[in-house]
Amino acid sequence: MGIDTIYNKKELKLPVIPMRGIWIFPHTVIHFDVGRELSLNALSEAMVHDSLIFLCAQKDPATENPVVDEFYSTGIVAEIKQTLKLPNGNMRVLVEGISRARAKEFTFGEKLIEAEVEEFTYSLEDIERTDDLNAISRLVINDAKDYVGMNPNMSNEMIMPILEQDDPSRLADVIASYITLEPEDYFNIVNEFDIYQRLELIHSILLKEIEYLKIEEKINQKVSKQINKNQREYYLKEQLQAIREELGEEEDEDIVFKYEENIKKLKLNKKSEEHVLKEVKRLSNLSPGSPDTNVIRSYLDEVLSLPWKKTTREKYDITEARDILDEDHYGLDDVKERVLEFIAVRKMTKGLKGPILCLVGPPGVGKTSIAKSIARATNRNFVNMRLGGVRDEAEIRGHRKTYIGAMPGRIIKLMEEAKSNNPVFLLDEIDKLASDFRGDPASALLEVLDPAQNDSFVDSYIEIPYDLSKVMFLTTANSLNTIPRALLDRMEVIRISGYTEFEKLNIAEKYLVPKQIKEHGLTEEQLIITKDVLKKMINNYTRESGVRNLERLISKAVRKSVMELVEKDKKCIKINAKNLEKYIGNVKIVDDDIPKEDMIGVVNGLAWTEVGGEILTIETNIMEGSGKTQLTGMLGDVMKESAMAAVSYIRSNQNRLGIKGEFYKDKDIHIHFPEGAVPKDGPSAGVSITTSLVSALTGKKVRHDIAMTGEITLRGRVLPIGGVKEKVLAANRYNIKNIILPKANEKDIEDIPEKIRKTLNFNLVENIDEVLEIAIREP
Ligand code: ADP
Repeated sequence: MGIDTIYNKKELKLPVIPMRGIWIFPHTVIHFDVGRELSLNALSEAMVHDSLIFLCAQKDPATENPVVDEFYSTGIVAEIKQTLKLPNGNMRVLVEGISRARAKEFTFGEKLIEAEVEEFTYSLEDIERTDDLNAISRLVINDAKDYVGMNPNMSNEMIMPILEQDDPSRLADVIASYITLEPEDYFNIVNEFDIYQRLELIHSILLKEIEYLKIEEKINQKVSKQINKNQREYYLKEQLQAIREELGEEEDEDIVFKYEENIKKLKLNKKSEEHVLKEVKRLSNLSPGSPDTNVIRSYLDEVLSLPWKKTTREKYDITEARDILDEDHYGLDDVKERVLEFIAVRKMTKGLKGPILCLVGPPGVGKTSIAKSIARATNRNFVNMRLGGVRDEAEIRGHRKTYIGAMPGRIIKLMEEAKSNNPVFLLDEIDKLASDFRGDPASALLEVLDPAQNDSFVDSYIEIPYDLSKVMFLTTANSLNTIPRALLDRMEVIRISGYTEFEKLNIAEKYLVPKQIKEHGLTEEQLIITKDVLKKMINNYTRESGVRNLERLISKAVRKSVMELVEKDKKCIKINAKNLEKYIGNVKIVDDDIPKEDMIGVVNGLAWTEVGGEILTIETNIMEGSGKTQLTGMLGDVMKESAMAAVSYIRSNQNRLGIKGEFYKDKDIHIHFPEGAVPKDGPSAGVSITTSLVSALTGKKVRHDIAMTGEITLRGRVLPIGGVKEKVLAANRYNIKNIILPKANEKDIEDIPEKIRKTLNFNLVENIDEVLEIAIREP
């Protein structure tokens, strides 16, 4: 679409006003102020003629008196609609753009600038509506909608004249008038006579502008979010303050003051007090919302809740202590005696530190409850720290308070719980202490237990030394094997072995049942549990050295009874052998895990495990093969060695034992130890393994009513073993009355309660031949 085809040209001479920063297009109306002399004169000149004026852009808006080169030569012919004299001498003019024009020549007169211009006019009909023109028009209209929509300075109404526009040239100019343009862009639009090109130019400018608007909006949102957040915080803080005031909470200064006062009341030594007061000072310098405030306050609270000076009045009355121990425990006579001795020594050496008592025995034999009785007898508070699975030194000694979520260690936590600085402090299951890369908890414990150091125990969190020297530490363990040597050296060991059925019955009748009845708020008239029931519970529902499960079972029966008493409104319940299952469920244990008849290769060994004595049934199979020995089941290295020793002994005594052929060449031996009980006591299965092997190799049966324990040498001598009492009690539990023991263990038989001892038949042996003679049945 050439320029000549649609435009009519007309020559005019017009006064010129150079424009800076304000743009006019044909068909748009604008007003602006005129101040420059040249412009004012141009205005007057126009007014006396036909009110027409040539407006062209100044290239550099800063130039006060532009010369020819500094104007864009294409501009707008406009009609002056109105003028208004302003008080400062300037004129405000309202003009309407009429058409594009090109200046052919400027004349700089003394008073004004004039230009010879060529005016370009067109009529609507001459514009050829091509598809391209329609498409670009539509595009630009959409751009304009977006632009107006996004531009906070524009109202949506401004879009109306655009939508109604039928003249694409006018459309371009109206839209262009909405945009804030650089002088160069303005000129480019004014100078673009081709309508399609002009619309395209506007499209590209608008796209750029829309992009800017988007960025602006993003920035604004961010900023306003920040402002909102600040406002929110401000309001919340105000509210918090209001709530605090409502609740009557103290001002920050009060808090600091109170801390200071309370810390001083603790009467810490000077250095410690200074250290803590320094923290209080830090607190006063912090703003209340700061995260450090909480850290310091928690710290101060911990320090304040520790019993620094509070002590209970200790008692060392042996008679009273005996009464208390008897009141709480059945039997255990030697244990009680040892405990009383321990208390007596404490009394004599007041202030001096004796060894630490360690109660060793299977679970549920009353170790914890004896420790509690000691606390009661000596009038100390009682706290219990379970050490099972403690691997991290920090669990004992705490984390530095700068760690997130830091806390004092368990020692300090329990001292807080004890509420006095001289409690009985039970370190439960000290044999379960583990250690790994996080440090060695045992060494931390050693420091706690060491009288030379424990008057100034430093927890990493608390930071100032705490005096543990008045604490009476007691420990418990299931077995001594895994207690770190250095710890064991500090301890005086008292062993509590398991209970016999008779003892359990008494404990249940006299202690456990009354205790449970009382705890559940019943009276002994309301609930009766017969002796038969208790016996059944002991033999068919539990098989343990202690009474822990028994107590649980009784508790279960009592709970069920309470339900029934309440629900059915009964006066009294009697649990007897007949209705027992209703209260505690079906029988749990039948003696099917030990042999019921004599068999080849099957032997009742006796083992000592962490949970007390156990029967360990050892089985051996012989198969055709190539001389391999295979061991399966739960076994430690010691068991393997026992098995090797047994095989070796049998090979060298093969003939005498009546074993034919080269079994070590053409037979495979498979020895199986049952799963479940894990023996802990080192060698003691030698005799059982040998007996089982000999039986299997000779095809002769082993007596099923015999149980045995003992280790052997390669020459067949039987060596003494540990844990005799526990092992014998285990055999008795299974109702096995014939027992083979090493001769060297004869003295240990004394430890077995007489009642049981009398019912048993002990075979004391010095070598394996004697064992085989007793245990293996001759066909
Ligand atoms: P442990 O610490 O050895 O595992 P506990 O002290 O927890 O065992 O004992 C378990 C339960 O058995 C406790 O309720 C305890 O009072 C009770 N108990 C254990 N032995 C006796 C006993 N000889 N006389 C009375 N009650 C006992």
